[in-house]
Amino acid sequence: MGGRVGSEGKIHDAPRVNRADRDVLALGIGIAAIIMFVGTGGNVMPQVVHSLQGIGLPPDRLLSNALLLNIALIIFGLRRYRDLTAEVQERRRAETTARELAETDPLTGCLNRRSIGPATDKLMAACAERGEIVAFMMIDIDDFKRINDANGHSAGDKLLQQCADRIGELMPERGLLARLGGDEFACVVPFRAATVERIDDFADRITREAARPVALDDLAMDVTVSVGIARSDSTAMPDRPVDAQELLHMADVAMYVAKKSGKSRHCWFEQSMEQELRFRNELEQAIRTGVQSGEFTPYYEQQIDLQTGQISGFEMLARWNSDRFRAVGPDVFIPIAEEIGLIADLSEALIRQALRDAKDWNPRLTLSVNISPVQMRDPWFAQKLLKLLVEANFPPNRLEVEITETCVHENIAVVRSLITSLKNQGVAISLDDFGSGYSSLAQLRSLSFDRLKIDRSFVTSMPGSHDNARIVEAIASLGKGLGLPITAEGVETTEVVAELQRLGRFMAQGYLYGHPETAAQTRERLAALGLLAGRSEDEPDRAGSEPLSGAA
Ligand code: C2E
Ligand code: CA
Ligand code: CA
Repeated sequence: MGGRVGSEGKIHDAPRVNRADRDVLALGIGIAAIIMFVGTGGNVMPQVVHSLQGIGLPPDRLLSNALLLNIALIIFGLRRYRDLTAEVQERRRAETTARELAETDPLTGCLNRRSIGPATDKLMAACAERGEIVAFMMIDIDDFKRINDANGHSAGDKLLQQCADRIGELMPERGLLARLGGDEFACVVPFRAATVERIDDFADRITREAARPVALDDLAMDVTVSVGIARSDSTAMPDRPVDAQELLHMADVAMYVAKKSGKSRHCWFEQSMEQELRFRNELEQAIRTGVQSGEFTPYYEQQIDLQTGQISGFEMLARWNSDRFRAVGPDVFIPIAEEIGLIADLSEALIRQALRDAKDWNPRLTLSVNISPVQMRDPWFAQKLLKLLVEANFPPNRLEVEITETCVHENIAVVRSLITSLKNQGVAISLDDFGSGYSSLAQLRSLSFDRLKIDRSFVTSMPGSHDNARIVEAIASLGKGLGLPITAEGVETTEVVAELQRLGRFMAQGYLYGHPETAAQTRERLAALGLLAGRSEDEPDRAGSEPLSGAA
C-alpha cells in the first residue's frame, strides 16, 4: 500500500548547534589527552620497562602521575563520546516521531492536510522525470454529518477508519493517501497521460468499495462517496505547471460537482466548473444578505374552485426582489437556502408577511404556504408556525401547509407527528406534487391529509397525453374514494379545465388564471371582485356577493 507514512523530512537546526559544541569539546579533550599520552608515555614507558628489568631508575613520579591523568582523561573522553552518541540517537528518534505525528492523521494513520501538499509536489517532480503525471483525487463521504449526528461520534470515527482502510487497500505503489480533515480524503496517483482510463477505473473501484455496507457495532450502514479528480497536466495554468495546492482546489471543485450531480460518483475537473462555482458562491452570499435585508417577497397564485368559478384562496410563492438575481426562481434559491441553513429564517419572514397580506382579504379566502423538508425536521416547527399565527392574529383554519410527496417518504415518522400537531390547531395539510413520488394508499390514509395536489407535469399535458389524462383520472377517483379534495396545478388552457370538469370536482391553479402576483396586485384583483376584508369604511366587505370568474 502506498504512502500512508510521511515523506522524508529535515531535522531541525537549533538543538544541533549545542550538541555540536559539546561534541567538539569532548573531541578536543580526547585528542589533547591522546597527544599528552603519547608525549608523556614516550618518556615514562621506557623508564617503567627498564625499572621492571632492574636496569634503570624508577620512572619520574610527576610524569607517571601525568600519564595516569591522561589515561583517566581518555576514559572520560570515551565515555562522554558514548553518552553523546546515545543522546544523539535518542534525539533523532524523538524528532522522527514528532515529525511523523505532525505529518500523520492520528485517527487513520494517513498523511494529513499539512503533509499532503509537499508530498504531492515531491511526487510530481519524481513523476516528471519518468514522463508521468499525477491524478489528485478528492474523496468525500456523502451525508457524513447526518451519519455522525445520528449514530454518534465514535461510530463516525470507526467509519472514517474503515473508509481509510478500504481506500488504502486499493492504493497503487507510490500513491499517496491523506485525510484532509472531517470526512475528506485525498489520494494522489501517478499515471501516464495516455492511460487515463486507469484513473477512471481506480475512482470507480473507490466508489464501489466505499458503497459496500459498513458494519459498525450493531449497525449496518450504507455509505457512499463522491470523488473529484484533477490532473497535473491540466491546462488550468497555461503558463506554468500546477502545484499541489492548485490541484487540491481543482479536485475540490470537481468533487462538489460530483455531489451536485447525484453523489456516489466521480467527476473530472473542467475549467467551466470554476465559473459555475464562483456564480454559486456569489448566489449564496447574495441569499445571505438578501434574507437579512428582506429582498425575498411573497407572491400569490390564485386557487379557483372549478365548480363555482370563484377564487377560494392563494398559494404563496417566494420571489427574489434583487437587481441582479431577479430571474433566479425558488426552484434554485430554496434548495440553496436549505443547504446553507437559512431556509427557516427565509420561510418565517415570508410567512409572517403573507399572513399580514392575507388579513386584508375576505376571511373565507385561504392561504397556502410551502414547507421545505428541512423545516419539517425541526421539532419546534409546529410551535414556530403557531407563534406566527398568534402574532398575526390569523385564524389557523385559513392556513394550509403544503408538503411535497418526496418529503413524506424521507421523514414518515416526523411528518406524522407534525401533521397531528398542526391539525390539532386547525391548520390544514395538503400533499403537494402528488404523483411525482410513491405514496401508497395505506400511507395516504394513515397520514390523513386534507387535500391532494396533482403534480403539474400530469395536468398541463393532459390534452396531448393519453397517459397523463389517465393518471389524472386515476388520482381523481382515488381522491373520491378517500374523500380527499383535489387541486390540479398547472392549468394553462380551457381545454384542461373542460377535461377536469368531466372527471369530477377540482380546484385549479395555473397560468390560465394569471401568473403569481405581488401583494398589491392581489389586493387590486380582490378589490375589483369585492373580496377585501372590508375593514375600512370605504371598502365594504362584499365577500361572495356575486359569482366570480377567476379567469384573467
Ligand atoms: P410548487 O409548490 O409546485 O409551485 C407551483 C409552481 O408552478 C410555481 O413555480 C408556479 O409559478 C408554477 N406554475 C403555476 N402555474 C403554472 C402553470 O400553469 N404552468 C407552469 N408550467 N407552471 C406553473 P415557482 O413559483 O417557480 O415555484 C417552484 C417551486 O418552488 C414550488 O413548486 C415550491 O415547491 C417551491 N417554493 C416556492 N416558494 C416557496 C417557499 O416559500 N418555500 C418553500 N419551501 N418552497 C417554495
Ligand atoms: Ca406548492
Ligand atoms: Ca406543486
